[in-house]
Amino acid sequence: MQLYQNQTIQIYNSLSGKKEKFQPIEAGYVGMYVCGPTVYSNVHLGNVRTFMSFDMIYRYLKHLGFKVRYVRNITDAGHLENDADAGEDKITKKARLEQIEPMEVVQRYTVDFHNILNTLNFLPPSIEPTATGHIIEQIELIKTIIDNGFAYEVNGSVYFDVHKFNESNEYGKLSKRKLEDLIHNTRALEGQSDKKNPQDFALWKKAEPQHIMRWPSPWSDGFPGWHLECTAMSTKYLGDNFDIHGGGMDLKFPHHECEIAQSEAAKGVSPVNYWMHANMLQLNGQRMSKTTGNTVNPDELLSGNNKFFSKAYSPSVIRFFNAQSSYRSVLDLTDDGLLASEKGFYRLMDAIHSLDDLQAGSISTFNVSEWKQKCYDAMNDDFNSPILIAHLFEAVKVVNQIKDNKASLTSEDLDVLKQTMNAFTFDVLGLINTSQSEAGTEKLSGAVELLIQLRQEARANKDFALSDKIRDELAAKGIQLNDGKDGTTFSL
Ligand code: AMP
Ligand code: ZN
Repeated sequence: MQLYQNQTIQIYNSLSGKKEKFQPIEAGYVGMYVCGPTVYSNVHLGNVRTFMSFDMIYRYLKHLGFKVRYVRNITDAGHLENDADAGEDKITKKARLEQIEPMEVVQRYTVDFHNILNTLNFLPPSIEPTATGHIIEQIELIKTIIDNGFAYEVNGSVYFDVHKFNESNEYGKLSKRKLEDLIHNTRALEGQSDKKNPQDFALWKKAEPQHIMRWPSPWSDGFPGWHLECTAMSTKYLGDNFDIHGGGMDLKFPHHECEIAQSEAAKGVSPVNYWMHANMLQLNGQRMSKTTGNTVNPDELLSGNNKFFSKAYSPSVIRFFNAQSSYRSVLDLTDDGLLASEKGFYRLMDAIHSLDDLQAGSISTFNVSEWKQKCYDAMNDDFNSPILIAHLFEAVKVVNQIKDNKASLTSEDLDVLKQTMNAFTFDVLGLINTSQSEAGTEKLSGAVELLIQLRQEARANKDFALSDKIRDELAAKGIQLNDGKDGTTFSL
């Protein structure tokens, strides 16, 4: 008997716009595909937020006992600067600017991506396929789409015929757009002259002579369109129709819309039963984005080496901060938010560490089995992690009451409480068990940061006696303050 057999999961499906009961195609098995990074630069925290949300979802499904095949790709070719099939390939451009091979770009940023995800305690996906490793599959897919009458070749490039497709299918159903509105709103962009209509999108692009990343095909030496790789790789590993497809909200259109069109055109079936979209991470109220440069990279947040935040934050605090809002809400990254998460995380750790020392009583003053089901209900409700965390804090309160002899639990209930808290905290939320001494160091660093701030205020008020006193007394305790041009840091 697996846990999932007693739980009913509701998933918000972007396609229907409502929560739906989750019913996997094959009982006990889940196929999940998430669009991975385009490896042309370091991942920023916005990218990480989306992947982290799906990491938590993957973890929960596994915790329930599902056998999950989780596929998250690496885009190492075909993603052009402009969504409308124009501009340079992002990876080629980086290679040109840095005068290195495109595959060196891919290697560098794939390694960076893996390092960051390991640091942040991600589970690796079951399969991590690359676009360049699936060129043959993509060419085969294009042939089928042409044979089925939904694509055409012009001058060595192949385009998907959106207008033709829309006669028999519904282009725009995921992003709730109508083709007529798209026609009305699209400007003809440079480089699109080969297309019958500006709404058509590239399945294969003939490479210009200077384009390095190129492969032979029946139409030209060229490269696949960006949307195609995800259709080729998801259906190869999960089947023509699979359970869950995820990605950031910004990928709904055109990327995911085009994936649906490609699959329906090639295979005659809708590829995905549940489309899930994670909402955007903001920094200072503005979407975090590589294009605008409004970004913080995970290593900058982990080291404290950035201009936005007062201190460094640990991987678990970043994970905890992320889980404190629903994956479907916009999340604003702020220092206050992170500080509050840090406090909450250590409160949770303190309670978990004291679980082993709690004495069982003869009666239970708290309904543990009801509480346990509430934890599951929260996650069953479209993976509502903030509600789960609220329930975990209810347990923290009980733990502290038991310590103060104001509550009691029988040994059976105590075991269930322990097991459930550990499972949700570490297995599902993916937080790292942080020992008391590490927690102590974090708290100490918080206290020193506060003293640094007070010293700055004293200096601003020209109270140099106080500012010197803070510096000297800290030095006497072995804490050295170092004044630099970007502020004051400390060393032990
Ligand atoms: P990219 O490497 O640009 O293809 O993006 C990789 C993933 O990160 C995609 O699923 C995007 O939707 C997601 N993403 C990009 N920016 C943000 C953001 N600010 N917040 C959350 N997810 C994002
Ligand atoms: Zn994709």
